[in-house]
Amino acid sequence: MTPIIGSGFDKNLKQTTSGRNVKPPQLDILTPSSIAEALSLLAEYGADARPLAGGQSLVPLLNFRLSRPEVLIDLNQIPDLDYIRDAGDQINIGAMTRERSIEFSDLIHDEAPLLLEATKNIAHLPIRSRGTIGGSLANADPAAEYPAVALALEFTFVAQSVRGERRIASHNFFQDILTTALEPDEILTEIIVPKIPDNSGAAFVEIARRHGDFALSGVAAQISFEDRMPTAARLAACGAGPIAMRLTATEEILMEEGIGEKAVKAAAAAAAAAVDPMSDHHASASYRRRLTGVVTTRAIKKAVDRAEVMA
Ligand SMILES: Cc1cc2nc3c(=O)[nH]c(=O)nc-3n(C[C@H](O)[C@H](O)[C@H](O)COP(=O)(O)OP(=O)(O)OC[C@H]3O[C@@H](n4cnc5c(N)ncnc54)[C@H](O)[C@@H]3O)c2cc1C
Repeated sequence: MTPIIGSGFDKNLKQTTSGRNVKPPQLDILTPSSIAEALSLLAEYGADARPLAGGQSLVPLLNFRLSRPEVLIDLNQIPDLDYIRDAGDQINIGAMTRERSIEFSDLIHDEAPLLLEATKNIAHLPIRSRGTIGGSLANADPAAEYPAVALALEFTFVAQSVRGERRIASHNFFQDILTTALEPDEILTEIIVPKIPDNSGAAFVEIARRHGDFALSGVAAQISFEDRMPTAARLAACGAGPIAMRLTATEEILMEEGIGEKAVKAAAAAAAAAVDPMSDHHASASYRRRLTGVVTTRAIKKAVDRAEVMA
């Protein structure tokens, strides 16, 4: 499916699609082997270049000629971007870590179950074997699962360029449909994920037309408790508008009114009212809005059931 990341891609620093049986317009592919080398190439080519991660979104965009860079900076030969590390009360994940590696990580299983469950909802295993966490977040698809988890858990994004390193909070990272705060000369290098606190439960619930499709509506929820009352509620939705959306009104209702039937109903209604979904050939905006209420209810109930303290 992705000829430009096929054979003959690994040996030379500079290759070209010219003369190959590919659909994108002619472009050069540069394969740096270190972050520093990638940054200097990106500084040199600027807006004419795009980083290439798993290629699961970028290659279709190239094939449809919706994206027309002159140069691809392939990040696949940079081992320093592929890791999952325990860092105290947080987990540091290299941007080129495959979605499949996250899915099968014991550390993510134990300490970031919301991220794990969201990952299982992304496409199918072959796509998760190529797709990366950095690529998904930098792509900022409004229906993708990771941006919703990033907003709910308040990830921190580490971006590097030849100008230096900066950290971007998740609420500043996603700016518009397929648009993030990353500058053209920046690479997302690391994602910092807070571990789940004790006495908490988490759930990612979505509805898609078929398993593996992008969500029509999805909700990420993580709720912490003390004496069976919520002490923190973190919820965000995908398929909610041009970008994923933090469900603050829903969080406030749970914090103020608890998790009884009436409160959960009000919290779900607040979620449905907050989102601004788009109509397309998969579903109308009003149907997606209704679905948001349904998945919010399910996510809250699952998260509550999974909090050991509530058992
Ligand atoms: C059939 C199919 C179904 C899918 N279903 C889902 C789904 O249900 N849910 C879902 O969330 N995703 C889905 N995806 C998307 C996929 O899972 C990937 O997460 C996603 O395509 C991006 O990851 P990637 O590594 O392939 O990035 P790429 O496609 O290589 O890149 C995507 C964009 O991010 C930029 N980029 C990549 N890495 C960086 C970086 N480190 N720094 C700066 N910019 C960067 C690229 O330049 C490009 O603009 C699906 C894909 C396919 C083909």
